[in-house]
Amino acid sequence: MTSASPTLGILGGGQLAQMLALAALPLGVQVVVLEPDPQAPARLCAEHIRAPYTDPAGLSRLAACDAVTLEFENVPVEALAALEGRVPVRPGGTLLARSKHRVREKEALRAAGARTAPFVPVEQGTDLEGALEQVGGRGILKTSELGYDGKGQARVSGAAELRQAWEALGRVPCVLEGLVPFEREVSLAVARNVAGEVAFGPLVENTHRAGILRTCVSPSGAPEGTGDRAREVAHAVAGAWGLEGLLTLEFFQLPGGELLVNEVAPRVHNSGHLTQDGGGVSQFEAQVRAVLGWPLSDWAPLHPTAMVNVVGTVDGRGPDWTAVDALPGARRHLYHKAPRPGRKLGHVNLVAPDVGTLRDRLVRLEALIP
Ligand code: AMP
Repeated sequence: MTSASPTLGILGGGQLAQMLALAALPLGVQVVVLEPDPQAPARLCAEHIRAPYTDPAGLSRLAACDAVTLEFENVPVEALAALEGRVPVRPGGTLLARSKHRVREKEALRAAGARTAPFVPVEQGTDLEGALEQVGGRGILKTSELGYDGKGQARVSGAAELRQAWEALGRVPCVLEGLVPFEREVSLAVARNVAGEVAFGPLVENTHRAGILRTCVSPSGAPEGTGDRAREVAHAVAGAWGLEGLLTLEFFQLPGGELLVNEVAPRVHNSGHLTQDGGGVSQFEAQVRAVLGWPLSDWAPLHPTAMVNVVGTVDGRGPDWTAVDALPGARRHLYHKAPRPGRKLGHVNLVAPDVGTLRDRLVRLEALIP
């Protein structure tokens, strides 16, 4: 256990840091975020060090915390190096280096016994030759680093298209993945503390719109046994990667039920937001606890829950908030960000006494959120 009134440092001050801070406060934990953006969502509920992630004074303030975690994986290596040996950073640098690079991540997933889509690394033009055939004839070319919400990727189904896509992505290192004919997308988070204690979040079913997560539902509609298999994979990855903290695995489920890991986020994830309102521990509390080395328990919601993301629209139209608020079991979570098309501005969680009612309310909620 850390001190009686511990302080948690976070690299990054976006909505995930905001919600980590909101979960940390009632646990008696103070939060300090290092984040250059003056309008960072976490500034409203945490001490905000407004400086670059590599700022020596800012990093010294984080080094004085009991532990440091992060809300995005692209943390500059200099920042991690500056904190090394001064404060526990959880997850640590080796795990982060893996999870921010799609090829290294897939190789490490396979080494841990997880299955992934077929893939071919594309470092240079010559790697494109024969690549599509190797992954089954149709694929998705993704930049190895810095892609999110469907950005930095293109679907390809011919050699000429593949080359064009690589040019359009800027000839940067990429991975070509085979197109997976998945039946559904699910995700599951795992936490592990320094004592090696492991706990899991719920199996969540996800749908996307224009490459951005649109809805999440728990319990998922996946066949029986899927949750157990997802937990086995998550447990194996957490152990093999020496996880300290929380990580979220996104899976494709094939028609036969098999799970392929699509990607891993070394932190809380948009698909876990519904845990805020399901009556149990939230993913944010789970990450805080794991990072501080506290005892852990599973954090599946106690009631059927769902989530719909609120994303900035091209015409600026937002949700019908009066109608959302009138929907039983709906709770809004807004991030205090300036609206922009395609930007995640908030989400609405929905809780219901049974799965049927949840489905009905979710249809009504979706109709209110453009
Ligand atoms: P990602 O950025 O890797 O999470 O991809 C965004 C979305 O694109 C995923 O949630 C899927 O819906 C789709 N997608 C990504 N990779 C594949 C793949 N190999 N096969 C089929 N669909 C994919």
